[in-house]
Amino acid sequence: MDHAPTLDLACEAQLRIRNLPAYMDRISDRLQSFEADASHHGGRIDFRFAFGEASFDMDRLVMRARAADRDGLARLKDLLATAVDVYAKEENPEIVWTGDLAGETRLAQFREMTVAGVRNLTPHMRRIRFAGEDLARFAKFGGMHIRMLFPTGDVPDPLWPTLGGNGLPVWPSDDRRPVARVYTIRELDVDAGFIDVDFLVHPGESVGAAWAMQAAPGMKVGIMGPVGRPVRQAEWYVMGADETGLPALARLLETLPASTVGVAFVEVADDAERQPIENATRIELRWLPRNGVPAGEDKRLADAVRAVAWPKTGSAFGWFAAEATAARIVREHWRGTLSLGRDETLAAAYWRRGAAGLMAG
Ligand SMILES: Cc1cc2nc3c(=O)[nH]c(=O)nc-3n(C[C@H](O)[C@H](O)[C@H](O)COP(=O)(O)OP(=O)(O)OC[C@H]3O[C@@H](n4cnc5c(N)ncnc54)[C@H](O)[C@@H]3O)c2cc1C
Repeated sequence: MDHAPTLDLACEAQLRIRNLPAYMDRISDRLQSFEADASHHGGRIDFRFAFGEASFDMDRLVMRARAADRDGLARLKDLLATAVDVYAKEENPEIVWTGDLAGETRLAQFREMTVAGVRNLTPHMRRIRFAGEDLARFAKFGGMHIRMLFPTGDVPDPLWPTLGGNGLPVWPSDDRRPVARVYTIRELDVDAGFIDVDFLVHPGESVGAAWAMQAAPGMKVGIMGPVGRPVRQAEWYVMGADETGLPALARLLETLPASTVGVAFVEVADDAERQPIENATRIELRWLPRNGVPAGEDKRLADAVRAVAWPKTGSAFGWFAAEATAARIVREHWRGTLSLGRDETLAAAYWRRGAAGLMAG
């Protein structure tokens, strides 16, 4: 019996682009990295996602999306418009969607959230609970992360983004625009209406860490998401994270199948930063304290991950989330030295020494 959902909602956008085929390989690569299956039919490429379908017609210069519900259609519009916007940038593409949800100005991926509780997990890790409504979409699409929108000293009372006719967010002018930083949903309870986020309270001038240090019940932030690609399922994993990747690594250990094996390294400032993790897997967890070496300067995390021998049989995945230099070293090792594919590894820079707001734009 076929349980495929009925794709009742549909929309399309004319693509006023001279050279669509020149961008199509990269657009297609990007969409497939969000777990879409692609198939070619003459001048048309179809993409099948778990939550809907999309197509690019290179002869008629039109892209189409169909989904079972509003969240799915909004997600497809955002994925397609972002891909076109990024890869056909030089043509400054004008995208205007028609059909279902055309004229909608509510941004499906945005929620205003209210701080409901704050507690210190360790001396430098602060768990903040945010209450909000209608959070079901944050459990969909395989992304674990959110873009958090904060008020700042310069913009204490920000305006939130809305939805444009091109399917992408419309931001208020700079004097009312909130400042964005990327964080991980450590825990989500759709029925109870809350998410937990673990903030590393790091030294120096900042937006996210500074906000977390003075967070108190009743304060408001915006969140957009979910952000990020699904992590590939495998029988064996090697993982590495510093404190910023720890919330995502902990979520993976709590949710991967019990039979999963491998090893996970977590770099923390010192032993006081270790925290309990309900590891549901057989992945071995090893803590690597820096013991006085500043964050982003210690090479032991990257070295430990590189020293792990890749299994010769079975499915395997390498997952790494830490400072940009360490992420580059590990990525070069996996993709270059070991010639592993993009579908077998993910080595992501979660922050960069001396740079503010990495990945938040
Ligand atoms: C997908 C993703 C998920 C993430 N999830 C989390 C999460 O759940 N929890 C979390 O705490 N972080 C997380 N991060 C990292 C976080 O986005 C960055 O650390 C971000 O820079 C924090 O913003 P900020 O305003 O505090 O500092 P910024 O204003 O961005 O930076 C100010 C200064 O602080 C430095 N800095 C930034 N991060 C650190 C650090 N970790 N240690 C030391 N110095 C630092 C910068 O280099 C810069 O010099 C995630 C990042 C990504 C990409």
